[in-house]
Amino acid sequence: MTTDSTVLGRCPDCGEEIEAYQSLIEFEDADGTTGVFAECYSCDDVVRPE
Ligand SMILES: [Zn+2]
Repeated sequence: MTTDSTVLGRCPDCGEEIEAYQSLIEFEDADGTTGVFAECYSCDDVVRPE
């Protein structure tokens, strides 16, 4: 199994590192940056890594 170990950021709730393979949706933010929603395995919830 290959793992993409690019870190997107940390879970705002628990501080766990969120890696690229956990991402679910990418979207364009109002300021033109690309945001991403990802699944935090610790929270078992969808979060926005920061
Ligand atoms: Zn979390």
